[in-house]
Amino acid sequence: MMEAASPPPDERAPRVGRGAPHALREVERTAQRYRLLARADNLLHRTLDYEETLEALAAFAVEHLADYCLIDVLRPSGEMQRVTHARDAEAAPLLEEAGRFTLDPTAATPGGHVLRTGEPVFQPHVDEQFLKRAARDEVHLRVLDRLNPTSSMVVPLQAHERRVGVMTLVRTGDEAFDEDDLALAVELGLRGGLAIVNATLYHAARSANRAKTDFLSVISHELRTPLAAIIGYADLLEHGIDGELNEGQHSKVARIKASSNHLLQLIEEILDFANRSGDDQPLHLEDTTVARVLAEVDAVASSLARDRAVELRVEPPPGDAHISTDPRKLRQILLNLVSNGIKFTEEGYVTLTAEVDEHDVLFAVRDTGIGIEPDRLDDIFEPFWQVEDPMTRTVGGTGLGLSVARSFARLLGGEITVSSQPGSGSTFHVRLPRVPPTAAPDAGLD
Ligand code: ADP
Repeated sequence: MMEAASPPPDERAPRVGRGAPHALREVERTAQRYRLLARADNLLHRTLDYEETLEALAAFAVEHLADYCLIDVLRPSGEMQRVTHARDAEAAPLLEEAGRFTLDPTAATPGGHVLRTGEPVFQPHVDEQFLKRAARDEVHLRVLDRLNPTSSMVVPLQAHERRVGVMTLVRTGDEAFDEDDLALAVELGLRGGLAIVNATLYHAARSANRAKTDFLSVISHELRTPLAAIIGYADLLEHGIDGELNEGQHSKVARIKASSNHLLQLIEEILDFANRSGDDQPLHLEDTTVARVLAEVDAVASSLARDRAVELRVEPPPGDAHISTDPRKLRQILLNLVSNGIKFTEEGYVTLTAEVDEHDVLFAVRDTGIGIEPDRLDDIFEPFWQVEDPMTRTVGGTGLGLSVARSFARLLGGEITVSSQPGSGSTFHVRLPRVPPTAAPDAGLD
């Protein structure tokens, strides 16, 4: 038989001096219980990881209430999982052995009963009869017997109406559980249940998000390959590889290329979105000048402006201010903003400017277009969000440009803000540090 491993009484649930008046004892016990539950809340809220939540709950129960804790949870897959924790490290292997006899939700054991009904089972004095009821078979009974339980309670783990498992608390010494311990265990079961449900929901949301971005990334890769072939063959035709084209053929091939390039741009945008959702995007930092970045954006965006009656004005800052940044990401941010400006401006102009101070560069993209209603200014940064009805809007786009731009800006240690006047135009500001926070602080820039 194993030695009883009782914790010092002051580490457990409240024990108040016998001489204290009854009402005072009650108040002190209640206060002590709330303090303990507040600590449990604090501990359980530190993580949204499923396994860590179970471990934290079992460890807390053992620290404050019991010599052993066994937690049986119903996984979203329908399987039962058991986590065990022992106060005495020497008892851990034996408890682990008991842990192999996972709970059968249909069995007439105390755990099965609690899981089905949600009613706690309170057995302050464990006897042979109770052990027989708790055991699944003879082998299990022998393991339970060697654990030497003297007092036990099994409480549901549940959040609202949803039961997710049961928690079994066991003592091995002379001090039996009392009604106060049961009340504390039931409360702990509610808090633990809520933490488990939260961890499950968080896990499900992350998996769904990953599935969505994986899907987008696969689809866009698959679309890019045939599209590259279409553009390549159109190029060959245009260069007269298979004979000179007449004027009509030339203009049709040019249209094929323009539409294909447009489609390619949309696909790149979806890929950017899918890639940036994998939290660990690498930054490729380089030292470059603000003027060079603006010139590169100008080269690509000016042809977009030419197609519409919009003038693009790019105004670099005086001098050759340097910035340490990921130039591809910065170009993408500015291109997304400038092409939006051009897209949502019927006539007028779009300006791209940059101001530099000691620490930051402040880029501004101003347009004289349709503007954005004040109550939409937050929504436009949400992925796939578009102000206009997708069925009736005349301009193209995936609804990802601003979302990608904002997440790239944050990745570079900066932020994007917008102000707008419906009917008169919008201004998007991008503030970026000249040295991103992750870069070496002594990367001297002039
Ligand atoms: P899209 O591919 O639709 O341009 P974005 O994420 O870039 O996606 O922009 C989201 C929405 O924000 C746009 O559909 C448009 O309704 C609005 N928007 C963005 N930029 C401007 C702008 N410069 N002027 C007016 N509306 C804009």
